[in-house]
Order: sequence, then structure tokens, then C-alpha cells
Amino acid sequence: GMTDQPRLLEGLDPEQRQAVIAPRGPVCVLAGAGTGKTRTITHRIAYLVQRGLVAPQQVLAVTFTARAAGEMRTRLRALGAAGVQAQTFHAAAFRQLRYFWPRVHETRMWQLIDNKFRLVMRAANKVGLATEKEDVRDLAGEIEWAKATLVGPEQYPAAAAAAGREVPVAPEQLSKVFAAYEQLKNQAQALDFDDLLLHIAAILEDRPEIAEEFRSRYRSFVVDEYQDVNPLQQRVLDAWLGNRDDITVVGDANQTIYSFAGASPRWLIGFPRRFPDATVVRLERDYRSTPQVVGLANQVIGAARERPAGTRLRLVGQRPDGPRPDFAEYDDETAEAEAVARRIAKLAGQGVPLSEIAVLFRVNAQSEVYEKALADAEIPYQVRGGERFFARAEVRQAMTALRTAAARGEAAEDLPAAVRAVLGEIGLTDEPPAGGAARERWESLIALVELAEELAAAVPDADLSRYVAELDARAESQHPPTVEGVTLASLHAAKGLEWDAVFLVGLVEGTLPIQHADTDAAVEEERRLLYVGVTRAREHLFLSWALARGEGGRRYRRRSRFLYNLVPDEHPAALPTKARQRELLDRVAKKPARPRCRVCGTALTSTMDIKLGRCGDCPSDVDEDLLSQLKAWRSERARQLKVPAYVVFT
Ligand code: ATP
Ligand code: MG
Repeated sequence: GMTDQPRLLEGLDPEQRQAVIAPRGPVCVLAGAGTGKTRTITHRIAYLVQRGLVAPQQVLAVTFTARAAGEMRTRLRALGAAGVQAQTFHAAAFRQLRYFWPRVHETRMWQLIDNKFRLVMRAANKVGLATEKEDVRDLAGEIEWAKATLVGPEQYPAAAAAAGREVPVAPEQLSKVFAAYEQLKNQAQALDFDDLLLHIAAILEDRPEIAEEFRSRYRSFVVDEYQDVNPLQQRVLDAWLGNRDDITVVGDANQTIYSFAGASPRWLIGFPRRFPDATVVRLERDYRSTPQVVGLANQVIGAARERPAGTRLRLVGQRPDGPRPDFAEYDDETAEAEAVARRIAKLAGQGVPLSEIAVLFRVNAQSEVYEKALADAEIPYQVRGGERFFARAEVRQAMTALRTAAARGEAAEDLPAAVRAVLGEIGLTDEPPAGGAARERWESLIALVELAEELAAAVPDADLSRYVAELDARAESQHPPTVEGVTLASLHAAKGLEWDAVFLVGLVEGTLPIQHADTDAAVEEERRLLYVGVTRAREHLFLSWALARGEGGRRYRRRSRFLYNLVPDEHPAALPTKARQRELLDRVAKKPARPRCRVCGTALTSTMDIKLGRCGDCPSDVDEDLLSQLKAWRSERARQLKVPAYVVFT
């Protein structure tokens, strides 16, 4: 009876409640991370079902990932609304298409293609394009972008130019590859993921009787993470809706992180205009994170160059105080990863469950060093979104090549050079490619070279066979049969999720923002990724970076530009120790004159004194002359150090 039904309006604030109890019809929740958007839509569905306003089977909720969909179904069941379909766009379209296809095409539904890259490769070859394997991913990604933005092969060159797309081939060539890909796919009677959406939209648009049937079945639609909807998904949504308006959307324009793939927050922002009768709710209370984490999130997004219209946003933390976000700088990635592992062990010792800890990074190639550090520290982990390092195509290919070379007893060269030579044959270049998939592939291969350097340092007479054995052992040990454990995930895969403790690692220029983010818009998307990362933490937040890649590597990295003004002045990471400064200064052959105290003329050594322009014994005020002198000295020093000036002065 009524009395033992879950009390759906408890645990909601007045604004959330307003969205939950709004009558059927358009509802829009525009709000920042952790404000309870996902909770609100879940409760809304359960509320409508409980009140008998809609049957569970008539509701279709779309989420961004299969995991989010699963979580929503679980919560709905707990709230007494079992039977609601919560799915990704693709899963929903697949189900619908399987049902309607035979009636429309009088055949069984076509198969999903099993290897898209192979098909793209064949298409490229067919039009006479000899592609590097690594380029194929980029070509496939570009075809995905075109289909997601409803651009056909003929329109591609113009659309790509307008959108400033960067591809390894001429746009005209890409449109040929795209056309050939579609043709080969049709010949094979196969569908890719985007075809699922295209076909169901076309069927609903062209066949009124099917649209009618569909719309009598599904009456109420809900979309989570609506800021990242792409034109193709929006077209499907429109086809589902027809001229009805029973749709609830929630999103946060500041969390748009898929615009590189064609997504756009314009439908979220434009929703109140499209549906003037909509119930529009804005939420500001952040229930997820401590005020310390919320404060940092506000700072990150407050620095955004431009805020999408209608996204006035300031989160207000609701939880009790917690620890301040921690910033740390390391010499190299290995040191960073080992420190992260130590901190995780410490948190675990304090009672934080491992499943409540996540290490988040920008590109999947970064996971390897963390997988190793965690495995060495015997801390169980799982990799989410993105394959494990040793499961990656390029790593498997490299292992095969190395094994073959080792078996042939090739390569008499000390070890790293031998590995480099073998990997050179499968496309490893000296310099990193500009970006995209090619870059990630390069990162994986260079990680293998670095592993060889490490091994050679530890075992001077190690040869290729020894190296391959080492790789096998690592591959083996990195597949521990764990279910629970620390989550390693990309920032993209972390969307919508939350953990008690979050480590945001590798915060250096070239990684976040990623190297190929070379327009303002792309950099802003990278900033939003950092915002997504920061807002995943409930309580403990650690931000770190390393000045060199690999162990003792010589390629220096700059701390991410997004960290300026975030690291508190008195924090050790903002103010490197004297010993560390001296160590860095020792690498300089010829040192320019030091700045001097503007009052007494003593040479200044401490970062703080230099910043203030006076020694600790003299009173300070800012001196323009000294400032310009400082600037010149700083840039000269930076040039000589080949490390950024902030290492010495922040
Ligand atoms: P994101 O933008 O990251 O997806 P969101 O807005 O969807 O975030 P939720 O995941 O729904 O936020 O909620 C964040 C956390 O706050 C969850 O743990 C949720 O249970 C909790 N929460 C939401 N609303 C309330 C509330 N009114 N009282 C207490 N806790 C709440
Ligand atoms: Mg959410």
C-alpha cells in the first residue's frame, strides 16, 4: 500500500523537489557537478511511476555510459520503479532497430561490424591511400565525427574546414575513404554504432505508422549529461519525441567534454527557448564534495575564458570541512606514481576503502606507470574505460615484434637501442607525432623503450630475451584477478562518477591541456576536463605533476597552465625548497647575475624574497625597475635551464 512505498521526496532540497514533482512535460535542470542532477531524474521517474502518471515501461532514460545506465536501473529498482529502460543511446537504438528492422527491410537485421579499423584500412587502400596503421584510428575517428554531426562524405571537406578539423590526410581524400567505408560496410551488410542511430531515426522519420506505434509505447523521455549530446543523438531524440514534449533533460554546460567528437551544449542551453513552458530548475548546492574541493572547482571553472550563455555557476558546498586539496610536484613520472601508490596505501590505512579511490589521467597511455606502481605496492586496481596497457593493440604488436627479434637472436646492440630498433620497424619515431591516436600509440611504445632503459640500468648484460621475459612477467602480474580495487580511469570515463579520494595526475603542459589542443576552444575543453576531474572527489583530492617523463627522463615538462593561481602561495609545490632550486641551478653552466635587494643590495636567493624584491631584513614595496630586471633574469634563466621559470619562482 501507499504507506510502505519509498518516500521519494525525502532527501531532496526544494529545487530538486520542484523538478521531481513537475507535471509531465518539458523539464530542464541546469546545474553544476555534484548538485544532484542524476539523483533528481532518478527520483522524478520513480515519483511519476509511483503516482501512476506513467507506466515504467513507457519511460526511456538515456545515460552516457552503460555503467551509468546500470546504476540508474539499480536505483530505480530500489525506489520501486523496476522495468524502466535506462540505457545508452546506442543500446536503446539497437533494441528498437532489432524490433523494427524486419518489418521495414523484410530481412534480418544486419550484423554489427566487428573490426572497424580493418574496414577503414580497407577503405583507405581501396581509394589508393597507403595509410600508416596509426593513422587509421584518426581516420576512423574523423568518420565518427562526420556521422555524429550528420555530415556525409560529399559535405565533409566543407564541414571539416568550418569546424577546423585536423586530419592526417587531405579532406578530399578523407571524404573518399568515408564513401568507400560506407560502401564496403553496406556490401558486407554490416552496421557500425552510428548506423544504429541513423537507421532508427530514418525509420521513425519516414514511416508514420511505425513512428505511431513507437510513440504509443514510449511516452516519457529522460536524458542525463545532456550537455554532451551530439547532432545525431539529438536527431534520434527528436524522432522519438515527434511533436510531443514529455522530456526531462539535465546537464552542466561546464562539463562539456566531447565537443571534439561533435557534441554541443547548445540543445541544453536552448531547451528553455525551445520549450517555453518548461519547468527550468537551477541547482547550486553541491552535495558531493567538501567546501575545500568545491572551492577549487569554482576556481578552475571561474578561470574559463568564456562561459556558455546561461551557465552562471557557483557551487555552494554542503558537506562538512575536509582536508585541503593537495598539490605535489615530482622529478619524474615514476616518482609521481610511486608517491601516489604510497598515499593510497596511507589512505587505505586510515580506513578509506580502495574502491573509493581513483587515479584519473588525461590519456590512457598514462595508466601504465600507475599500473606498475600499484602492482609493485600490491594494491589491487582496475582499469576503466580504455584497455589495460598490455592489452593495447600497439603494445601487443610490439610484443610480437620483440619476441620474434629475440627468438632470432638479433640485435647485438646493449639493450635500449635494440628495443628502439625493433620498435622503429613498427613505426616508433624519435619525435612524438603531433597528436591524436598516433600520439597515444607513440606514448605506449616509448614507455616500452623506457622499460628497456630501466632494465638495462638494473641488469647491465640483459638482452632482448631477458627483456621479453620481463615484459611477459609484467603483463602477467598486471592482470590480477581483482574485482575491487583502486580505479584507474581517463577523465572522460570518470564523468558522472564519484569517489572519496581522487588523484589527478600528470598535470603538465602537453598532457592537460593535451598537446594537440592548439585552439582556444580546444584548451577550454581541456579546462572543463580538469573541472570534471576535480568534481569527482568527495573528500580527498590530490593534484600532481612530474617535471620529466619516464624515470630520470631528460624531456622536461611544464606544470599545466591550469594550475596557475590554484596552488596556494605557501604550499611547498608553489615554493620549491632551496636544495631543489640549487639542484636545478647547478645544471646551468653560466649563471646570470642574481637580482638584488632593492633596499640594501644583497643578492637574493629565496624564492619569496625574489618575488617580493627585497631581502628578509628590509621593508618591501613593489619597484617597477626591479620587476622588469627580474623578468629579464627569469626568462634568461628559464631559457638556460630548459625548464620553466616557475620551478625557481612561482
Ligand atoms: P555530475 O554533474 O557529476 O553528474 P550530479 O549533479 O548528477 O553530478 P549526483 O551524482 O546526482 O550529482 O549527486 C551527487 C552526490 O550528492 C550523490 O552522492 C548524491 O547521492 C548526493 N546528493 C544529491 N542530492 C542530495 C541531497 N538533496 N541531499 C543529500 N545528498 C544528495
Ligand atoms: Mg550526474
